[in-house]
Amino acid sequence: MKKFGLTTRIMIGLALGVVFGLILSPFSQNPFVKDVVIDSILAFFGGMFINLMKVMIVPLVSISLAMGAASIGDVKKLRRIGTKVLGFYFATTAIAVAIGLFVAKITNVGKGMIHGNLPKGEYEIAQQSKLIDVLLDMIPKNIVNAMSEEKMLAIIIFFLLLGVAITALGDKVKNLKTLLEEANELVLKMVELIMQVAPLGVFALISKVVASTGIDVLVKLIGFVVVTLIAFVIHTGVYQIMLVGMAKMNPIKFFKNFLNVVSVAFSTSSSNATIPVNIETLSEKFGVSEEISSFTIPLGATVNMDGTAIMQGVAAVFIANLYSIHLGPTQYIGIILTAVLASVGTAGVPGAGMLMLSLVLKQAGLPLEGIGVVIGVDRILDMFRTVVNITGDAVCTIVVAKSENEIREVNDKNFSD
Ligand code: ASP
Repeated sequence: MKKFGLTTRIMIGLALGVVFGLILSPFSQNPFVKDVVIDSILAFFGGMFINLMKVMIVPLVSISLAMGAASIGDVKKLRRIGTKVLGFYFATTAIAVAIGLFVAKITNVGKGMIHGNLPKGEYEIAQQSKLIDVLLDMIPKNIVNAMSEEKMLAIIIFFLLLGVAITALGDKVKNLKTLLEEANELVLKMVELIMQVAPLGVFALISKVVASTGIDVLVKLIGFVVVTLIAFVIHTGVYQIMLVGMAKMNPIKFFKNFLNVVSVAFSTSSSNATIPVNIETLSEKFGVSEEISSFTIPLGATVNMDGTAIMQGVAAVFIANLYSIHLGPTQYIGIILTAVLASVGTAGVPGAGMLMLSLVLKQAGLPLEGIGVVIGVDRILDMFRTVVNITGDAVCTIVVAKSENEIREVNDKNFSD
């Protein structure tokens, strides 16, 4: 296996995981297969990989962010980059919901289906907390707490401040700056080392999902799944246009070099767990300056969820059709606005988007029981929408970095693996 590059090994792990999962699937209720193979062995290796990725999030984000801010050295530039990237994040998410709604509307997904015949699952409803609390929660009040709870926005604010202060102090803290640069090299190396177990981790995570997702649920909800996937594919077309038009980058080359990030997102279903490998890949393979990516990628993993927004749009139309509820133009606009906000509020962890769907349904006056129907295929869709989510973060980052002239040349050696 060693003679293959890492990306190839990860893809092999993914493919073998699907095959192994399909083999296990008919026996998934057998006590030995369920308790020993799926819930112990596969759960261990999958969990191990996720934990190892997650352990790097806080060190990598905090160190590279502080280093980035310290090297940008100019608050005005920071503000400009922040405004640009947030603008792209919001615009692409709004386009994403609109695409989801459009595809769902023209295919009339869910029309003619009878909800009584569909499987029902347990679901949770998001508590609509007050906006002021959500905003206040982003301002760090205890950094140790924020780091232990992985509160990304609070971490981002604190370490940006730290970086800016380092610049302001200049030569007085020059050793600290060098230390941060060296520490940054170190954490990136650690991510690279951890990625060596990615093929095994991806294999275990995928086979577990495939083995435990009932094929019958998938068949019954196939319309919903296919329409959502079509909307995902169309939205990646928007990314390609952005890459070609705004960054002069060949999209095929982009996806080829981005495959390892895609497979981590796909198998972990978590934007947060994908942050370290996303930053590392943008730097190593695309030459994107970490000054930018260390800031925009964690921010994107927290607020930019195009795939989630698409799913919420499609699910709203699907549920409306299922219960024969007519949606008028005002409801569509309401869905776009709430889906953009709900996706911003969605945490980068598995299943979070489904939880926030309740806000969208509530706003559009649709029955929340509809969540019980779509939840059966959520694990599968979550894998795909997480891929869309983190691809959006990377594409917007590349576009912003290009506009700031912050992409260095990488030699083709970097592109080979
Ligand atoms: N799992 C998604 C993510 O981490 C969020 C969601 O459930 O939509 O990006």
